[in-house]
Amino acid sequence: MITLGIESTAHTFGVGIVNDKGKILANVKDSYTTEKGGIHPSEAKKHHQTAADKIVHEALNEAKLSLKNIDFITFSQGPGLAPCLLVGMEKAKQLCRELKIPLVGVNHCIAHLEIGSLLSKAKDPVLLYASGANTQIIAYDGGKYRIFGETLDQGIGNFLDAFARYMGMGFPGGPKIAALAENGKNYIELPYVVKGMDVSFGGILTNLKQKFDSKKFSMEDLSYSAQETVFAMLTEVSERAMAHCEKNELVLGGGVACNTRLQKMAKIMCEERNARCFVPENQFLLDNGAMIAWLGILKYKSNKGKTEALNKIDIRPYERTDDVEVGWK
Ligand code: AMP
Ligand code: MG
Repeated sequence: MITLGIESTAHTFGVGIVNDKGKILANVKDSYTTEKGGIHPSEAKKHHQTAADKIVHEALNEAKLSLKNIDFITFSQGPGLAPCLLVGMEKAKQLCRELKIPLVGVNHCIAHLEIGSLLSKAKDPVLLYASGANTQIIAYDGGKYRIFGETLDQGIGNFLDAFARYMGMGFPGGPKIAALAENGKNYIELPYVVKGMDVSFGGILTNLKQKFDSKKFSMEDLSYSAQETVFAMLTEVSERAMAHCEKNELVLGGGVACNTRLQKMAKIMCEERNARCFVPENQFLLDNGAMIAWLGILKYKSNKGKTEALNKIDIRPYERTDDVEVGWK
């Protein structure tokens, strides 16, 4: 059984092809970027419309397959930006109609977790999901994936992107902050905002903007201090969730998890509590089609191939991780 998975929640239009053994046959994407400023949903939508056919084609080439080898299509239903989600769903439905095959919609956040579990062979991990729009600590408990901690305002990636934008850099800002931080030498004290298992970034962003405007600090030191502060916050809440749930595996997911400083902090924390820390390759940390396809396989199998009618399936821009029925665990 083979599925083609489409990801289009935000900046990335991705297509992955995965079989029911968990073999990733293709993972191709094209992402919307800017020289200056953040994501404009309508621009990202246009990007996806232009990229869709090309990326589907490239994924099939990479997998050395044709559309007739695909048993069903999977798409990312949400959470995400509605204009972007719609492009993915329309492409998915068009393929389903042409090929007369079923469609499966899946949750983007859980896809990050399941691809991490597949690649790490982790049995029952805690996921630190650190992406642009989302920041959540997720673990399976009592029949559902539950959110043990999360951001109370913006996602950590949006925080990094917003600070980069304020300093005059384009999207995505996370890698630019990371490069500046490499040359930071002095830690500048910033607010440290952990509330129970939750975190918040808005106040830290305001503080950083004020410090930047004061011209008393270098961009390198500000970037370094921002990273040290917010990554320590994430590491602290991940550890607390692991202790609370008595789990000894941590999987990282989301684009911000590409950051080597965050990876290092998470690894040290896990070592100190005799836990395993697993960091998938960058292509599976960032938004990607393979993770959508793999969750499609899990869901399709657990529903014994039963799927909804095409016209009943819609996007779910605000779907929460703990709303999802988990039949495959
Ligand atoms: P995602 O939404 O999961 O695809 O992740 C996108 C986010 O990851 C954006 O906010 C990027 O700025 C951020 N990002 C990508 N690479 C890095 C990095 N090396 N360090 C920090 N943030 C990053
Ligand atoms: Mg994501």
